[in-house]
Amino acid sequence: MQQKLNVSISPGDAPGPTGDFRKAHYPDTSDAQWNDWRWQMRNRLSSTADLSQKFELTIAEKEALAFPGRPFPVSITPYYASLIDNRPDDPLRKTMIPVGNEFVRGPGEYSDPLGEDPNSPVAGLVHRYPDRVLFLMTDHCPVYCRYCTRSRLVGGNADWAMTKASWQKAIDYIAARPNIHDVLISGGDPLIYGDQKLEWLLGHLSAITHIDFIRIGTKVPMVLPQRITPELCKMLAQFHPLYFSIHVTHENELTAESRQACELLSDSGIPLGSQTVLLKGVNDNADALKSMFRRLLRMRVKPYYLLQCDPIEGSAHFRTPIKKGIEIMRALRGRLSGYGIPRFIVDLPEGGGKIALEPDYLEKIENDDWIFLSDRDSKHYKYHDPGTSL
Ligand SMILES: *Cc1c(COP(=O)(O)O)cnc(C)c1O
Repeated sequence: MQQKLNVSISPGDAPGPTGDFRKAHYPDTSDAQWNDWRWQMRNRLSSTADLSQKFELTIAEKEALAFPGRPFPVSITPYYASLIDNRPDDPLRKTMIPVGNEFVRGPGEYSDPLGEDPNSPVAGLVHRYPDRVLFLMTDHCPVYCRYCTRSRLVGGNADWAMTKASWQKAIDYIAARPNIHDVLISGGDPLIYGDQKLEWLLGHLSAITHIDFIRIGTKVPMVLPQRITPELCKMLAQFHPLYFSIHVTHENELTAESRQACELLSDSGIPLGSQTVLLKGVNDNADALKSMFRRLLRMRVKPYYLLQCDPIEGSAHFRTPIKKGIEIMRALRGRLSGYGIPRFIVDLPEGGGKIALEPDYLEKIENDDWIFLSDRDSKHYKYHDPGTSL
């Protein structure tokens, strides 16, 4: 059965689905069904029975799936499942299938680590920075990442309804505040909606004259590339300037299918940036990240943020020391085009907001005229600074 219908492979692509997974588990599914995003949504793997048919589950995974009252659902599109190898250390598998550690609360972990709820003036809107708002359009996603910052509310756990009436309240809040210039539509994943609802919201937001640009935060091009249709792109192109921030986890996601989805978006005039959460045992390796960022450049996606994993409850098995992120940044600088290097971001607790961390290249300032700097390999340099002395 031909899996990569209408998708040609280019040299930067990850191998992608081999077709074996689909042949083994979906022998009667036609190409038209497999390539239809609504079929992919309807056939997501979410129960223990679904998962154990397709993967040989470990004891830790089985225990986690059977955990009583597990509030945070599991969901994987058949397409995304086809990128996951049937071995417990597969990087994408670790991000999708829970293990018991998810239920262990460690020190400094919170259900709302960024203090979003207290910064929410209207249901579904987080207003933390004076000039920007985060618009939580939905609490649903095609897949649920186990390290999700908003695991407290995604998967149907939010305590407000996401309807046009609630979106209208958020729109009114933005319209009444001329100092807001940037709306980041996220969730949940906004692209679970059909074109009409998205068009309704984008139309209302872009009519507000003090909004400079709108961003959509989504993982859909990686987990459900079938959703990026020419019709969707045509609709989106009415609302420039519109940017996409795409959640990318690992280069195994960078297949011919996801590249084609990104190309459709770029061809519609949408600038694309990536956001990657640094995850222990998944992507915390400078060489692997360098290779992923190079592939993203080929796909016309600018690496935007590398994010320290937020301390949500039960995330200790995913979190890396901050030092690790800084070491990775030092390893990238000078070895990868500047365009391929994201900022390394820590989102501070209690609503402090995002800060960017860099290796410290500034070693010492001496009497204003000389400063001491180091390069990417920690070699030392004395630099004559114009300073402030005359
Ligand atoms: C991350 C975030 C933004 C966007 O931040 P940028 O640094 O501009 O990408 C806006 N609002 C909230 C609440 C956020 O968490």
